[in-house]
Amino acid sequence: MLTKEKAAKVQSYESPYGEDMEMFRRTVRTFFEREVEPRAKEFEANGADYAIWRKAGEYGILGTTIPEEYGGAGADRMAIMVAAEELGYAPSGATVGSFIGTDICTNFLVDHGTEEQKKQWFPCILSGEVVQAMALTEPESGSDATSIRTTAVREGDHYVINGMKHFISNGAKANLIYAIVKTDPPAKGRGMSVIIVPGGTPGLTQRRMITQGYKGGDTGEIYFDNVRVPVTNLVGEENRAMSMFIPTISLDRMQIVARSIGAAQRAFELTLEHCRNRRIFGQRLVEFQNTQFELAKIETEVNVGRAYLDSLVRKMRAGTFTDADSSMAKIWLTELEFRTLDACVQLWGGSGWMDENPISRMFTAARVQRIFAGATELMKSLLGRRYLAEGAL
Ligand SMILES: Cc1cc2nc3c(=O)[nH]c(=O)nc-3n(C[C@H](O)[C@H](O)[C@H](O)COP(=O)(O)OP(=O)(O)OC[C@H]3O[C@@H](n4cnc5c(N)ncnc54)[C@H](O)[C@@H]3O)c2cc1C
Repeated sequence: MLTKEKAAKVQSYESPYGEDMEMFRRTVRTFFEREVEPRAKEFEANGADYAIWRKAGEYGILGTTIPEEYGGAGADRMAIMVAAEELGYAPSGATVGSFIGTDICTNFLVDHGTEEQKKQWFPCILSGEVVQAMALTEPESGSDATSIRTTAVREGDHYVINGMKHFISNGAKANLIYAIVKTDPPAKGRGMSVIIVPGGTPGLTQRRMITQGYKGGDTGEIYFDNVRVPVTNLVGEENRAMSMFIPTISLDRMQIVARSIGAAQRAFELTLEHCRNRRIFGQRLVEFQNTQFELAKIETEVNVGRAYLDSLVRKMRAGTFTDADSSMAKIWLTELEFRTLDACVQLWGGSGWMDENPISRMFTAARVQRIFAGATELMKSLLGRRYLAEGAL
């Protein structure tokens, strides 16, 4: 049987992240094993509560990129990828959904927040008292992000925000919302800004959406009805949201693909164990040549995928990582995760399709990875634009 120790060893083998990050990984894994897995059923019924965020704060796994002078660890942004890989590796990650993945918002505040904003929000992010959400997507604007309609109009020392957002991770519970709005609508992509809207602001309403997977997660709608916030809630420069966002979007894609590798690895381990235990036609499932071939294919693909991700982590370290890298990774690794989960479910038979089986929930969770943070087709079209311009490669 593949023990947890063995699995951990396989995962940290020649890690490109470095020893500090591997220590951090162990903390995140312990958090999921001790605090999230045992409560997964409860979360499925009622959604993940605020208490689990505070618990994550106690474990020190939130706001890792916050500089030391503000009480954070000042970790490299790759800590967000390590945490995401563990979110994928934990079967309960498929229940709680994006959850701590919204920590990419923290990095945005680290890069662009004012001193006042940092002092106000960093302590609450670290402790898990606030839940963050990055609210961009709207019903008429998903892949085509610059066509958003939510506006913020300046009135004296305030912005007045009107519009709505949907499909937002932590959308119903978030009490630190980064609303991406139009401050200069005719300027399209060059007229977008990021404005902080704290939970409880009058005119703000939030609703949890029913989703195919992420049963204990929080994918929500956010409505802004004449929401007034001080102009000091603007993050970074007015009208520069899209250019400020580029590194955040890229990091978001990388945390998603790290999650893909974590999930694919765990799916392989769970399936191997199942094939060793399950008996059909008088023998163990693992004794069929077809099973061995399938497992060999899965293991090979996961290892190739990990080697690819490791190479990108090294590029990040060396400062040679590009947006195109994040697009290619998003295509390849999320598709790899889906292929892996599909093949694993097949080896589980009917039980792989039962909701009570973690592999079933991991399969459903794998499906959305190819859609959010830029669908596979959008990634291809972004890559494609480079082929049109001479000298762009
Ligand atoms: C669980 C979940 C969590 C999410 N969390 C957040 C969040 O926290 N914040 C946020 O702002 N948004 C969030 N989203 C929204 C997500 O980013 C969008 O769903 C995604 O960008 C796709 O937009 P859309 O759903 O409007 O699909 P559309 O834009 O309507 O795209 C539909 C399909 O069109 C195809 N397509 C897209 N672009 C192209 C192209 N260039 N060429 C050809 N075909 C193309 C793809 O197949 C795509 O799936 C979340 C979504 C989900 C499901």
